[in-house]
Amino acid sequence: MLENLGTPEDRTYCIIVRNGLTLSPEDFAIYQEALNDPRWGNVVLAEKLTKLGLKTGKDSLRRHREKMCSCVG
Ligand SMILES: [Zn+2]
Repeated sequence: MLENLGTPEDRTYCIIVRNGLTLSPEDFAIYQEALNDPRWGNVVLAEKLTKLGLKTGKDSLRRHREKMCSCVG
């Protein structure tokens, strides 16, 4: 049924999504929740993710959350 879904490489995702693709399903769920949680500011969340081993820039994070990144379009 999903044989034509393709691979993530078929399109250009920004670093925020590419980072997410390296995570385990459990971590990915937490990651998605944090990205969608407006209580997390971009600067603090980027710093925290980077400290936890997921190198994240606050500007990349902001662009992704504002849908101004390469994921869109
Ligand atoms: Zn993005």
